[in-house]
Amino acid sequence: MFDLVIRGGMVVDGTGGAPRRTDVATNGDRIVAVGDNIGPGRQEIDATGKIVTPGFVDIHTHYDGQATWDQEMAPSSWHGVTTVIMGNCGVGFAPARPDRHDWLIGLMEGVEDIPGTALAEGMTWDWETFPQYLDALEKLPRTVDVGTHVPHGAVRAYVLGDREQPGAIPTEDDIAQMAAIVEEGVRAGALGFSTSRTVLHRSVDGEVVPGTTATKEELIAIGRAMGRVGHGVFEMASDMRREWDEFGWMGALSRETGLPCTYAALQSIAKEMPLDEQIAAMRAENDNGANIVAQIALRGNGIVMAWQGTVHPFRFRPSYVAIAELPWEQQKAKLLDPAFKAQLLSESNDMSEVNPDIVGLVMVVAGGWGMQYEMDPDFDYEPTAEESILARAEAAGVSGEEYAYDLLCRDDARGFIYLPILNYADGNLDFLEALQRSGDTVNSLSDGGAHCGTICDAASPTFMLQHWVRDRKRGGRIALEEAIKRQCRDTALLYGLEDRGLIAPGYLADLNVIDMDKLKLGKPWLAFDLPAGGKRLLQRADGYVATVKSGQVTFRNGVCQGVYPGGVVRGPQRVEFAIAAE
Ligand SMILES: [Zn+2]
Repeated sequence: MFDLVIRGGMVVDGTGGAPRRTDVATNGDRIVAVGDNIGPGRQEIDATGKIVTPGFVDIHTHYDGQATWDQEMAPSSWHGVTTVIMGNCGVGFAPARPDRHDWLIGLMEGVEDIPGTALAEGMTWDWETFPQYLDALEKLPRTVDVGTHVPHGAVRAYVLGDREQPGAIPTEDDIAQMAAIVEEGVRAGALGFSTSRTVLHRSVDGEVVPGTTATKEELIAIGRAMGRVGHGVFEMASDMRREWDEFGWMGALSRETGLPCTYAALQSIAKEMPLDEQIAAMRAENDNGANIVAQIALRGNGIVMAWQGTVHPFRFRPSYVAIAELPWEQQKAKLLDPAFKAQLLSESNDMSEVNPDIVGLVMVVAGGWGMQYEMDPDFDYEPTAEESILARAEAAGVSGEEYAYDLLCRDDARGFIYLPILNYADGNLDFLEALQRSGDTVNSLSDGGAHCGTICDAASPTFMLQHWVRDRKRGGRIALEEAIKRQCRDTALLYGLEDRGLIAPGYLADLNVIDMDKLKLGKPWLAFDLPAGGKRLLQRADGYVATVKSGQVTFRNGVCQGVYPGGVVRGPQRVEFAIAAE
């Protein structure tokens, strides 16, 4: 008798091999048998007509705060994810001196748009060092496993203290201390180290993130610390300025340590090197023995704009500024008042307070109607020019701004506009099709748990199946088995997690049963359910029949079952094959 049998599904096992109809059995937290007509289970799931996949491994999230108070781990857990890796992009909460808590929260709020009030109320801060943070994470079981990076921002603030100012140059001794902290964190079980080098990442006070201006020497010294331990991934978000020679030093570092470096590979106006050139530079280094992996998003990374979101096109109009702080019901009454609308639309934007570095971006938000799209119920995130607000306003015989205003007012002022500021310069996703067919890229950049008021790309695995595997019409699709391999096995292996991402005896029983015919992303909504009423954009999906984590059913038809088998992943994981079958 097995603990659990998933019977009769099309098993897509994560190897990239063709799907086959068969049964899967688990005992304890492991898969113990895969084959036809295997014996009964104490619990059975009928997967006839469904696909069975490994649990998804999402390597780019920011649940560092949420994971200390929340067991459900939505929205990632609603989309088949059973392992998240957090602490990306140089931000996180350990190590943390007691007098730096607010500063670290401000950094996270600014860079990742996670409400500071929610973090302040939600986190208990019962840690100071990175190993203590891992211990604190372990106290709370969850629906998913969590792994983490040691974040550069926290490490720099810990070592430099009040000297941590934009442009601060650490001494050799500072760098040695930072490297020692990273080494300690990785020895305790961190899966890597992360840093951020982009002008788009700023604290709530508008300062660039620690590490943005770090020298190669600092980054390499820290990378070598992981080399001494023998594991760890170096993760980076960078503006890719040519003078920084990011690929040169990542190549040298990965050759020296034998460990991978990985970076956010985006089409972005903030990046000096265009994406094509980044990929070419990476490949030149990899041809020369380096191990650099490009993290790619699966769709345009963009802003979902709403009246109550973090961003919308009218926030620089004086009339809006005047009501921005009112309670929502009062704001809404004004916004829906035709006289208020007429007054607001007659005004121009006041950008005098906007940081000059991001004024171009803000102009796109406040009037780039050709890049903004209506999110109707069947919206597929790869819209054509005819679906732009510019085109739809023209067809309706109104101005772009009026069309956008009315759109946000739909559905009781809960309408959404999609503005893909990254990865959509071509007006289609063709370039991501080619990149997904390449072994030096990995599915990533969901930013789960972050950018709470602007995106919900934690839904990326669902989007992958719905759009790239099943529905895409504007270009090629990705084979189901290839997509599953990329989202499960390839992501797991980058971080040394050899125990997951495959359906075979001996591997973790992390599984999804999915009805591909019914799979559909729901309409996003703004919830105010973080601690202190903090807001976040959420998106559910139909079609997830069951999600299993370590042998326990955590979700059925999208409903959390109240069991929390997820723990903290410490360091690389190997598979023990000596497993009793029954
Ligand atoms: Zn990130």
